[in-house]
Amino acid sequence: MNLSISNVTKSYGDLTALHPFSLESEGEICGLIGNNGAGKSTLMKMIVGLIVPKKGKILLGEMDVKKMPEAVKHHIGYLPESPLLYPRLTPEELLLYVAEIKGIEKATEEIEYWLEIFGLSAKRNALLNDLSFGMKKKIAISAALIGSPSLLILDEPFNGLDVATMESLSEIIRKRHAAGATILLSSHLMSYIDRLCERVFILEQGKLVAEGSPGDLKKQANQVSFHDTFLHFTK
Ligand code: ATP
Repeated sequence: MNLSISNVTKSYGDLTALHPFSLESEGEICGLIGNNGAGKSTLMKMIVGLIVPKKGKILLGEMDVKKMPEAVKHHIGYLPESPLLYPRLTPEELLLYVAEIKGIEKATEEIEYWLEIFGLSAKRNALLNDLSFGMKKKIAISAALIGSPSLLILDEPFNGLDVATMESLSEIIRKRHAAGATILLSSHLMSYIDRLCERVFILEQGKLVAEGSPGDLKKQANQVSFHDTFLHFTK
């Protein structure tokens, strides 16, 4: 599904968290990177309709996020940077709840699938409160993936995951991409951005300072590694 962001801005009081930002993407894996406070989560929250832009427009297909907030949400899978999971629910209950809100019928099989993929079948009946940080993260990722949404917004998906799970998640993202989903992810792990993303947007204090494929950006920066490329653009 086509994601179209036109000249979107956001301010918090006197602070301009995001200067006019535009992006047009369909079926790509896009990376959103920048130092702490660059505006990545702010942009993602506006795409999913959690906060309202000061100016500009965000469309998913023909749907305006501002005018059709509920319809849009049926097509989006969102992993927030700090997911809030109901601590007194079990993983299975939470995922069933998310599936119900999203209008996904017969979700039991898919829930089973994600619990198994993330090695959490044995924790099916544990309280979310009693899971480790990484385990909770896996449940939040499952909640974003459930129902195969056509737009995936993943805010720091790798943060807190063990190495093997980071690799599995990369594979899952690639598979969703192969199935036609549009994916926007943020991360401070430059190796994953380099390997996964077709297009990368570098933000610095709310401003877009560079955009291109990892290869193009490396060329522009005259660097071999993507890590040094990022440092080049953000000083
Ligand atoms: P990080 O890598 O640390 O997660 P980020 O790129 O996601 O950073 P944002 O969370 O988008 O950054 O924050 C951008 C700027 O907006 C920061 O200066 C932050 O302090 C500010 N900001 C974010 N949310 C609010 C808020 N609710 N009220 C006031 N300022 C805010």
